[in-house]
Amino acid sequence: MTVQGLFSSKSAAAAQICAMPRFAIVGRGFSGMMSAIALMKTVRMPFHLQLFDPNSSVSGGQALSSTRASTILNTRVRDLSVCAGDSDDFNDWLCSNAEFRAAVPAAIPGFRQIFVPKEIFSDYVYQRFSEALSARKDITVQVCHEPVVAIRRSHRNRFLLESANPANPLFDAVILATGYGLPEIEEPQQEPSPIRAQRLIARPHTVLLGSGIRVVDQLLQLRDGGYAGQVTILSRHGFLPQSHTPNSADPVFPADALPSNLPDILRFIRSACRQAEEEGRSWQSVMNGLRRHARSLWRALPAHQKHQFNRHLRAIYDSHRNRLPEAIYARLQSELAGGNTVLRRGVVGRQGLGGLFFRPAGSQSDEIVHAERILDCRCRGPHLSAPLLASLVSEGLALPDELSLGLAVNQRGQPCLADGSTADGLFAVGPLGLGSLPDIDLVPEIVSQAFALGEHVAQRFYPQSKAV
Ligand SMILES: Cc1cc2nc3c(=O)[nH]c(=O)nc-3n(C[C@H](O)[C@H](O)[C@H](O)COP(=O)(O)OP(=O)(O)OC[C@H]3O[C@@H](n4cnc5c(N)ncnc54)[C@H](O)[C@@H]3O)c2cc1C
Repeated sequence: MTVQGLFSSKSAAAAQICAMPRFAIVGRGFSGMMSAIALMKTVRMPFHLQLFDPNSSVSGGQALSSTRASTILNTRVRDLSVCAGDSDDFNDWLCSNAEFRAAVPAAIPGFRQIFVPKEIFSDYVYQRFSEALSARKDITVQVCHEPVVAIRRSHRNRFLLESANPANPLFDAVILATGYGLPEIEEPQQEPSPIRAQRLIARPHTVLLGSGIRVVDQLLQLRDGGYAGQVTILSRHGFLPQSHTPNSADPVFPADALPSNLPDILRFIRSACRQAEEEGRSWQSVMNGLRRHARSLWRALPAHQKHQFNRHLRAIYDSHRNRLPEAIYARLQSELAGGNTVLRRGVVGRQGLGGLFFRPAGSQSDEIVHAERILDCRCRGPHLSAPLLASLVSEGLALPDELSLGLAVNQRGQPCLADGSTADGLFAVGPLGLGSLPDIDLVPEIVSQAFALGEHVAQRFYPQSKAV
């Protein structure tokens, strides 16, 4: 869906625009759209908003776009509200959608516990964005289809955004929502050509790299599209996503004081899971409870233990927090049990014309894997070497976090600087802060962060205004 047609409130006079604070959002994925909604709902005075992204569709970025309309999100409806303070907003939206109600009658009177296709969530986000925009006749919104390549501090504490348009105005606040970065440009013919590969393999064979939800998404898309060939999943750690419980797993977590070093934290969590299961609850409810403590636990860990976690435990943590709806988990298990899909643990090397180099776990030598198709489903995180992020670091506007997973930020996304201060007027939302804020790549955390930054911006530019 393109957004061009929406911006009727653009009619405000140019002179009026000049007098208003100008805000820029870089990236129109879920974090960018969410930040726009939050600004429109919290900053109650006029402003000009400019949204940059070369991707012209508002599909919700990588997470919500899908070649298959039916791809299911792995978060329950009750956790997907984009309305701060109203956790039932998405459920209410679904209940008022006659077409959806007719298609899913079993869930009446509410849909809080179910999982819905990405496309439906994307429609909901887009509708809430449109409503927030049409309720604000006093603001102007402009959409720019260019990537931003650098941000510099200008005079009077404002920001200059460098993009293909040399006439960008100066901005009073900039929200970076570039998530996993720009889609990579395809490398020229590094993959084995299908014809050559066909000579080397006995039957159709596809390789998927990674082991997270993207791999499962891709595998099921292939099967739903009629692909019957062999699939091999190659993963360094080999942890595929675990299953959700059939009903909601309400968060539980022991009230005891939390330990402050990694081995003790692990023992504490394992014992909490065991105890929950003995009491008839699930380990999933403990993981849900853990999310409420994850930030304070992470902050308290010394740097070397954060590195240890990242190297040895992140993959297993991700496989327990990013869970699959039961039905999808069952499909994955039956794929693996049937042998037509195989999971192999090891290190993936370079890709040449002869195939893909792969060193199986525990082996000292590489083997070459042949396939007519190799799909990289690994989640690589933000690229700190991308020109935009590199410009922020070189300008002294942001720093990488301790693990260089993204930028060092506080709860509302403000970059933390070496002297302990924060960069005024600049924010990095969503996965850009994953090294500082656990789970900030998930919808509920992005929603809270977007509203926190909106309130901060409202206070900063209009100290007397009140959010509605
Ligand atoms: C397959 C998948 C399924 C998921 N499912 C769930 C789920 O069920 N529940 C949940 O809570 N979370 C889920 N997530 C995670 C979560 O929703 C995402 O982390 C979140 O949507 C991130 O959105 P984003 O906008 O920050 O990043 P992205 O989606 O990466 O969007 C970033 C946007 O910024 C643009 N951009 C990048 N660089 C520039 C630049 N220099 N200039 C201008 N524009 C730029 C890109 O074009 C892109 O449109 C899922 C993630 C994935 C990948």
